[in-house]
Amino acid sequence: MKNPDRPLMPVVFIGHGNPMLTIGNNRYARSWEELGRKLPQPKAILVISAHWYIPEMRVTAMQTPRTIHDFYGFPDALFQIEYPAAGNPELAEQVADLLLPDKFAADYQWGLDHGAWAVLRHLYPHAQIPVIQVSLDLRKAPEEHYRIGQKLASLREEGVLIIGSGNIVHNLPSFDWREQQKEPPSWAVDFEAWNRENLLSGKTEELAGYLSRGEMANLSAPSPDHYLPLLYLAALKTPQDEVNFPVEGFDGGTMSMLSVLLNPQTTSEVPA
Ligand code: ZN
Repeated sequence: MKNPDRPLMPVVFIGHGNPMLTIGNNRYARSWEELGRKLPQPKAILVISAHWYIPEMRVTAMQTPRTIHDFYGFPDALFQIEYPAAGNPELAEQVADLLLPDKFAADYQWGLDHGAWAVLRHLYPHAQIPVIQVSLDLRKAPEEHYRIGQKLASLREEGVLIIGSGNIVHNLPSFDWREQQKEPPSWAVDFEAWNRENLLSGKTEELAGYLSRGEMANLSAPSPDHYLPLLYLAALKTPQDEVNFPVEGFDGGTMSMLSVLLNPQTTSEVPA
């Protein structure tokens, strides 16, 4: 139910980067912790993760989602991590209704992939808030993802925190695992800047047309999976939202670690 007295929940996009960042003592993990201290306590969290990119429309509906270690060749310490948040079957059902006529089926197999838990364990380290995930249907065009995002808007009025987890620039073939501080190439800097400008000026629908941006887009998002979660945040921006970038920087040259926060201002703070 809508509650006019309840402030809008923020919306967050997190650049999650490579899985090792969740266990190391590094500035990104510290920034996620700092961001978590500023975020309100939502009643539930809905995550759209780059790592649930499938030819299906699904929403996790189990009571107890498992922690999925969906990567290979990393140290044991990463495989030991558990994020024991509860699920929220009622919210999953509500989300499926909101997204009709697209038929998002209740899913009992997935859980929380590392796009979700690698950042949630820093944002909400006590795992006390129920979490559901919505899949990214790889058959859909960017504009369709944007429209799906718009349909989630009412959840913000109900205390649900929506988090997109991906990376605005994610080029693994050019990623430098040895030199984290490596200077990013100009196409990466330009593409990130184009995204920032459109978010700041409120031209969020432009982002859904990113494929028309030529080389900088092709190199920054060689596959759509890590970029698409940003479209959900873009689709949810209202005039009331201030756009902040709580985490910035490039890792290994070609991984933008930019995070975006839609921070709703109270009515008195909104300029007339
Ligand atoms: Zn990833």
